[in-house]
Amino acid sequence: MKNLASPKVIKEILEESGFKFSKSLGQNFLIDESVLDKMIAGSGIDENTNVIEIGPGFGTLTQRLCMNAKKVVAIEIDSTAVPILEKNLEEFNNLKIINDDVLKCDLEKIIAEEFGGENIKIVANLPYYITTPIIMHILESRVKTDSLCIMIQKEVAQRIAAKPSTKDYGALTVAVNYYSTPRLICNVPPSSFIPMPKVSSSVISLDIRKEPPVTLKNEKGYFKVVKAAFGQRRKTLLNALSNSSAIPLSKDEVLKVLTGCGIDEKRRGETLSLEDFANISNMIFS
Ligand code: SAM
Repeated sequence: MKNLASPKVIKEILEESGFKFSKSLGQNFLIDESVLDKMIAGSGIDENTNVIEIGPGFGTLTQRLCMNAKKVVAIEIDSTAVPILEKNLEEFNNLKIINDDVLKCDLEKIIAEEFGGENIKIVANLPYYITTPIIMHILESRVKTDSLCIMIQKEVAQRIAAKPSTKDYGALTVAVNYYSTPRLICNVPPSSFIPMPKVSSSVISLDIRKEPPVTLKNEKGYFKVVKAAFGQRRKTLLNALSNSSAIPLSKDEVLKVLTGCGIDEKRRGETLSLEDFANISNMIFS
C-alpha cells in the first residue's frame, strides 16, 4: 500500500496524473504522519465508528480513516481529484467517494442511506476559503454527528476558543460554543502540507453538546442579538442593539432590557458571556 503521507509519493502521483493544485479550492495536502495519528486518536475513531470526510483530496487522511473506522464516506468537490483518489484507495471496501460540494449535498440523506441513520463523526482537513461556512452549515443544520475533528487556520481556532473581553471573541465564538465544546488537538506548521500554506493551522475537535449550554425561548432571536452586538463591535451594547433592524425595540426599550438583565448599557458585545446573550434575548424574543 502506498503511503499517501509521503511527499515523495505525492510528487510521483502529481507527475503521473498531471494534477494541478487548485488554490481556489484550498488544496493544501497533508504530508505529516504525526498529525494523522493525532487526528485519529483525538477524534476517538475506532472500528465501530462511521465517518464522513470532507475534502479527501488524494486520500492521505482518508487512507488512515479507512484503516481505523468502520465505514468512510468522503465528499470531494474536485472531479479531477476523484479518479486519483479512487485509484489510490482502491483496496478499501469500506469507502464510498461522493463527487459533490459539501455545502450543496444532503448530509442527512447520506447519513440515512450510507449509515442507516446511525450517528457519525466528521473529520476533515478543511479548505480554508470556506471553513466558517462549512462549520456553521453542519452545526446549524444539526446533522447527526457526535463531533467534528477539523484542521483549520490557527487564527480561526483561536477565535473559536476565545474568552469574553479578548480581541478574538466574536459571533463565531458564541455560535460554535452554543452547539459544541471545542478542544484543541494540535497545532500544525505550514511545512506539514504540500503546497505550503501561508498560515499556520490547528486541529480542533468540536464535540457536539447533547444539551444547549443556555436555555432559550427563541433560538433565532438569540442569534439576532449576537449578530447585532458584534455587527458594530466599537459601539456600546445600547447603541449596537437599538441601531439594529433585527431588534424590534426602541433605544429606551433596549435600555430597560439591559437594566433588567443587570448589564451596563456601556458594555460592548465582546464582554458578554453566552448566559448574558441568553438573558437579553429571552427578554426580547418569546
Ligand atoms: N484531505 C486532504 C489532505 O488532508 O491532504 C486534502 C485537504 S485540502 C486542505 C481541502 C480539500 O477539500 C481539497 O481536496 C478540495 O478540493 C476539497 N474541497 C474544497 N471545497 C470543497 C467543497 N465545497 N466540498 C467538498 N470538498 C471541497
